[in-house]
Amino acid sequence: MSSSHLIRSGGVRVVEVPVTEIHSHGSGDISSVKSVVLELTTESGLTGWGEASPWPVFTGTPESNASALADYFIPMIIGRSVFDVEVFMAEAEKHVVHCSEAKAALETALLDIIGKVSGVPIYDLLGGCHRDRMPLSFSIANPDFDTDFTKAERLFEDGLRIFKLKTGFKDHAFDLMRVEKLRDKYGDQLDLRIDYNQGLKAHEALPKLRDFENFRLSFIEQPVRKANLEAMAHFTHTLTTPIMADESVFNPREALIGAQMRVADIFSLKIMKSGGLRRALEVAAIAKAAGIGVYGGCMFETGIAHTAGAHLMAALPELDLGCEFYMSTYYLTEDILSEPFPVKDGFVRVPSGPGLGVDVDRKRLEKYTIHQL
Ligand SMILES: [Mg+2]
Repeated sequence: MSSSHLIRSGGVRVVEVPVTEIHSHGSGDISSVKSVVLELTTESGLTGWGEASPWPVFTGTPESNASALADYFIPMIIGRSVFDVEVFMAEAEKHVVHCSEAKAALETALLDIIGKVSGVPIYDLLGGCHRDRMPLSFSIANPDFDTDFTKAERLFEDGLRIFKLKTGFKDHAFDLMRVEKLRDKYGDQLDLRIDYNQGLKAHEALPKLRDFENFRLSFIEQPVRKANLEAMAHFTHTLTTPIMADESVFNPREALIGAQMRVADIFSLKIMKSGGLRRALEVAAIAKAAGIGVYGGCMFETGIAHTAGAHLMAALPELDLGCEFYMSTYYLTEDILSEPFPVKDGFVRVPSGPGLGVDVDRKRLEKYTIHQL
């Protein structure tokens, strides 16, 4: 093994990037994207980028993930070979509980370097490219629906045909009104979904969910608290509209329990939940074996994490309902990638260069850094 493939150093930054509008969810509001950027460097001077994108109400805090990287994972891998990525992931899982976003960042940066060393994109390291583009979903989540409706019209012109409405942060009539208006204007040209982000109480959920049965939604996502698997299973069994589990299924173990209990018809895959791309593939393998669909989810991310997610989506044997990597293009006021994250005609295109196939603009990275470790 050449010593040039040994890891020399690692740097961690907490960044905060402004967004174009407030987005509301059943579990809270977002007014900026606070994320953690990891940069690993090899003895030969190659750089690998990774991102941990936590949301405190969902996965964890930026501070705990930055610490997991700077105080635990980087010291663990210094002087060791980048090719030991799975060995590192096993050690990371053994030595630090939670912080799945930091584990995703670690794996992404290592795969970025391995791809650059080998001259192949990350999806080739995961088994190859099943698809080089995937339909993009935009999340309708502005409490001011007039603004969102205008935005949806503009995005429709851009070629977007999938919209996911965030529901459960105002009242039920507001949620129904928004779905109805979009369905009335565009008919079946649009693929519509809703996501409660755990916003409903189990005892009040079913009548509300039934009100959506006639709108031909592709799915209803995570109506109740993540731990209420029995209610999720009941909705899946009772409703015609498919149910998707997001917060209820993070990792392979939860996917197995979710499949056994049939808590959903679809799982949302996110590298920030599973703790990396390969663990997300394990979740997908369990879903496939159980006849459960998968969807390409994301957290509040910059283009680095979006790109890692896009490589995962390319490598999935099956992808049923598109992906939602819209932040870089339609939500951040400015991304930190040197070239725009590739979205065209309503589809995400997967970069085909070595590693992630994208680079980071260091000036903008510096501009948005609020803390460096
Ligand atoms: Mg969700």
